Amino acid sequence: MASSTKYIFITGGVTSSLGKGIIAASLGKLLQARGFSVTIQKFDPYLNIDPGTLNPYEHGECYVTDDGAETDLDLGHYERFLNITTSQSNNVTTGRIYNNVITKERKGEYLGKTVQVIPHITDEIKSNFYKLGQEGKYDVVITEIGGCVGDIESLPFIEAVRQARWDLGPNNFLVIHLTLIPYLKAAKELKTKPTQHSVKQLLEAGIQPDILVCRTEYHLPPEVKKKLALFCNVQLNSVIEAMDADTIYDVPLLMKKEKLDERVLSKLKLSSKQNTDLEDWKDFLGKLKNPTQEVNIGLIGKYVSLPDSYKSIIEAFTHAGAAVECHVNLKLISSEEINSDNYESKLRDLDGILVAPGFGERGFEGKIETVRYAREKKIPFFGICLGMQVAVIEFARNVLELENANSTEMDPYTSHPIIDLMEEQKQIEQMGGTMRLGAYTCELKRGSKSHLAYGSKKIQERHRHRYEFNNRYLDQVEAAGMIATGKNPETGLVEIVEIKNHPWFVGVQFHPEYKSTALNPQPLFVKFIQAAIENKKVK
Ligand code: GLN
Repeated sequence: MASSTKYIFITGGVTSSLGKGIIAASLGKLLQARGFSVTIQKFDPYLNIDPGTLNPYEHGECYVTDDGAETDLDLGHYERFLNITTSQSNNVTTGRIYNNVITKERKGEYLGKTVQVIPHITDEIKSNFYKLGQEGKYDVVITEIGGCVGDIESLPFIEAVRQARWDLGPNNFLVIHLTLIPYLKAAKELKTKPTQHSVKQLLEAGIQPDILVCRTEYHLPPEVKKKLALFCNVQLNSVIEAMDADTIYDVPLLMKKEKLDERVLSKLKLSSKQNTDLEDWKDFLGKLKNPTQEVNIGLIGKYVSLPDSYKSIIEAFTHAGAAVECHVNLKLISSEEINSDNYESKLRDLDGILVAPGFGERGFEGKIETVRYAREKKIPFFGICLGMQVAVIEFARNVLELENANSTEMDPYTSHPIIDLMEEQKQIEQMGGTMRLGAYTCELKRGSKSHLAYGSKKIQERHRHRYEFNNRYLDQVEAAGMIATGKNPETGLVEIVEIKNHPWFVGVQFHPEYKSTALNPQPLFVKFIQAAIENKKVK
């Protein structure tokens, strides 16, 4: 296969949750700093076509790209570290692979052949491996293989990686295996055996890893590194230590110190185009670690027992907090536990309140109580997607006195459907991939809080919803002081509401958190934190 693109595959061993996404993003960052154009893709071994239909408790947040793909949350890390945009092609599941193959079979494209895992599924996987590389834009494509080596369901991916070596040639192909070196307290020893076993499993599948990245709580002594090199057939300098870090944003610098980028370049026979020292990244880290102030912000939602459900929001606070040198003490509060009797005790300590995105009725009334408190007590308020819809409903009920005003999502028979199903959604019966998804333009009202934050009148943000502000109520709502300060210029769909007589009350139908990156903090998050700082001073 003639291509100048280099392919790096990252597999995982011993256990899940070792942070393959962070290692992939960190390596990508280091290669970018050396002047290469890099993208990262993730191949997930489950059968859902995409994570869009998954409950956040299954795999954490569903991350949405500009082109409207519902993807794995690791794509968020890729964008946040590399300042790039990803797309549908950057996330492929087993379900999508099988769907493609079965669709081709039904069309008769296999010309009467028996369709099999090898070669048809593996060929489909490989053609997806190479898709982004073939765009000609990238020097390096990093592919993260989800799951663990040895899982039944990831076998076809592993087999496709084995075959890819022969398509690409040894100088264009590299496998990094991320593994765990556990510390046994009783024996006071770091143990290499689980890694030996997982590399053995890779070898059985015909793959020799080139580099081992070893997650560990303690530094790896030279004899441990030597043992790993000897038993796993890797060069001693290709055993890379990945110590637990204070923040995920430390990992690129830790990997640089361990010379992961140098090992990769030498094995891929690439010579560095430049070697910047990541000054802007260090500057970001310096601010993140040395805040001059602190605020308490409440994230009110219904999936709070798994913080990964709100990954991008949490990271957006990290980026924006660093930008204003403020430590954001983010408190995740379950909206199900908030009611009209206890809301004050639950929310009293907060300098700013964010009501999170979500679906369905559970915890909804707790969110209404939360918004009422923030509006009446003039606490800075930020509502995202469902959070914005709740803000509108609360305003309708308690300011316009439209009793029982609701979203038809929560009450299909409400007498005041102030949030209603979008017209184009009414005919849709299928669940997967059918919401209003991806980037749309929004036009901002001059002088609004949002305009002030973005510093521009036209913005693009990403969406994931079915319901919208019902424009029949717009005049009434605006006359009472809640203003639609952002609208879609083509459809008039209300994208942002703000309350005039309030220090900072902004609800957005879109998801600003998806576009926040370490070096480009999202402006609404920055302004929200600043408003919380102001509120704290007044208190
Ligand atoms: N459930 C709401 C809708 O579909 C909000 C979705 C969200 O918060 N992402 O419109």
